[in-house]
Amino acid sequence: MNGFCVECGIDTDQLVNGMCMTCFLKDRTLLTLPDHVDLFTCTSCGQFLRRGEYQSMAPEKAISLAAKHAVVPIKEAKIIESTTSIEPRDTYNYLVNVNCKLSIGDFETDAVASTIVRVKNTVCKICSRRTGNYYESILQIRTSEKELSARLQDEVLKKVEDFVDDAATTNPNAFITKMEIVPGGVDVYLSMIAIGRELCKLLGDFYCAELDESSKLVGQTRDGIEMYRVSYLVRLPEFHVGDIVRYGKKYYLLTRVSSSGGKIKSLNNFADMTIRRPNMPELKVYAKSSELEEADVISQSDNEIQIMDPRNYSTIDLLVPRNENIGDTVKFVRIDGIPYYVPQ
Ligand SMILES: [Zn+2]
Ligand SMILES: [Zn+2]
Repeated sequence: MNGFCVECGIDTDQLVNGMCMTCFLKDRTLLTLPDHVDLFTCTSCGQFLRRGEYQSMAPEKAISLAAKHAVVPIKEAKIIESTTSIEPRDTYNYLVNVNCKLSIGDFETDAVASTIVRVKNTVCKICSRRTGNYYESILQIRTSEKELSARLQDEVLKKVEDFVDDAATTNPNAFITKMEIVPGGVDVYLSMIAIGRELCKLLGDFYCAELDESSKLVGQTRDGIEMYRVSYLVRLPEFHVGDIVRYGKKYYLLTRVSSSGGKIKSLNNFADMTIRRPNMPELKVYAKSSELEEADVISQSDNEIQIMDPRNYSTIDLLVPRNENIGDTVKFVRIDGIPYYVPQ
């Protein structure tokens, strides 16, 4: 041992700034904590602002962390661990004692400091956007028919809502600002451009819809970045699976629709055919699936059935695919007065 304390002269090698620990700690304030610490909470979602970000946590934890975060030890010391005790003064003010375990060189000591945590009401950015009708993109869902049927509208909006709900689990910025019924469709206002873009693709693929987009400059951010609002148009086709369609000059049953195109089945020879997506708009609906006629089956042979015409109870012969499973009734469609069997 060759060290000694410059204050009391004791022989020791455990010196801090030339002093033994007893002399160093004497009358020394080891922690500083401001008289008060402000803690911001969003009155709308109840989240607390912590390190520049709103986070969801219990009020006691937020108050405790706010005080702990504001504690500064002297430069010779390091906080090893800290605990808090909270005494409410009223709804918005809390006296918080922060007890710290400190290390100074090889030495450990305890210290306590206290502050008033003041809870301040505010509205977080996301909540202010929600309440302020904020939107960055509009998904314009339109039909090629006279009007969007209630059934299709419900189906599409369910897809939109499910998608946004799913996105919101990882991104609180994702939300639907509002929905508006407009002639021929519905407009969905969305909080993010990316959500609009992804939904446009999703609906386009699912329905084999025609898509379009346009953007409009709406202003600048404070740091000079141009802000755009993007409109995504999804024009839902008139055709749906199960409809009788005309393609070229022939008639088909539409059996499948996907992102790559569609599948149709000839009503003449029941041969299947695929249509690429760019050619899908050439499909013209001749009869909707709901408009098909239904008839009782009287008899059945190899590739032919006899049905009873529901209009005049006469017998009609219909060509059917070989090995087709025929039930008691079948669907058929008349094209230029000639009935055709419609496969299930
Ligand atoms: Zn000393
Ligand atoms: Zn909020």
